[in-house]
Amino acid sequence: MSAVPSDRPTCSIVIPAHCEADGLRHAIDTVAGILTRQSVSFELVLIDDGSADGTWEVITQACNNLPFIRAARLTRRFGKEAAMRAGLQLSRGRAVIVMDADLQHPPALIPEMLRLWETGGFDVVAGVKLPQGDSAQSSGVMRRLFFTLNSKLTGVDLREASDFKLLDRRVVDAYLALPERNLFFRGMIAWSGYKTATLPFTPDERQHGKTQWSFRHLTKLALTSITSFSSIPLHLITSLGIAFIIAALLLGGQTLYNKLSGNAVSGFTTVILLLLMIGSVIMLALGVIGEYLARIYEEVKRRPLFFIQETLPKEQESENSRLSPPARREDTPS
Ligand code: UDP
Ligand code: MG
Repeated sequence: MSAVPSDRPTCSIVIPAHCEADGLRHAIDTVAGILTRQSVSFELVLIDDGSADGTWEVITQACNNLPFIRAARLTRRFGKEAAMRAGLQLSRGRAVIVMDADLQHPPALIPEMLRLWETGGFDVVAGVKLPQGDSAQSSGVMRRLFFTLNSKLTGVDLREASDFKLLDRRVVDAYLALPERNLFFRGMIAWSGYKTATLPFTPDERQHGKTQWSFRHLTKLALTSITSFSSIPLHLITSLGIAFIIAALLLGGQTLYNKLSGNAVSGFTTVILLLLMIGSVIMLALGVIGEYLARIYEEVKRRPLFFIQETLPKEQESENSRLSPPARREDTPS
């Protein structure tokens, strides 16, 4: 086996895992088997995103038995985006492949990804979900709604995009150097514009456990992706304001005319309806502004995206210390 710890491996596989105790070992063995057959040097970077089941125990055991595993356990659940980032920070490969722990991203495509990267000269090989195979229909309607809204607002079509990607080292470095806190991996890689090959795949059924994405997590992800890529909602508020001014002028003119000609409508119905409508629109507009303000607030605080509880293997502590949030050049007074 050509798995390496000595120098930079050819390929790192980053796998974020939240409550994946049931299937993780199988995933590790499958991926490792494929890479071993490819005869490339590789490492598996496993990130335990605050799992409440035995995921970390599975990782620890695998790490004791297999030389190519490196792992970090986050102090709590920080979310898949943060876990992927932790994995990218820990990875050392000349190419890095990010994939799910549930084998919905077919590991059989890894050789083709490596081929496109090595001989095709692509910096990014992006796995693209074939629509008919999407098995995540449980949250299907909401998912479709989010991604449709997202692609309309941001111009980046993420419906078929997935986090299953191979990235060249320079893309990884560019991604890690981004100063933003609100990161959306799929969107950011698409936005970065590096030479990309696409590789269609049909997501397999989830083999073990169940998806941990709740409605709240999906909403947060959708809001992050919209607010970090588009200011259209803010412009929509302006358009809405203009539409309301025009309506106000027309309605005002009509009301004045009625009043002067002695036909004024009596009763509160119109007043109440107008108040309710205008009130709702103002609240909605404030909400949209609030979302952007919240993002700015989060960016300004510059909190780290995650904390590490422990890393494996133990003797690589010094190497792993670079996982701590990077010292930021801008923090030093110039
Ligand atoms: N995941 C994670 N943190 C989370 C939610 C998910 O690290 O908060 C991981 C999960 O363990 C899996 C991958 O992200 O490896 C994709 O999650 P899942 O299969 O639940 O999502 P879906 O396939 O529905 O996109
Ligand atoms: Mg899945």
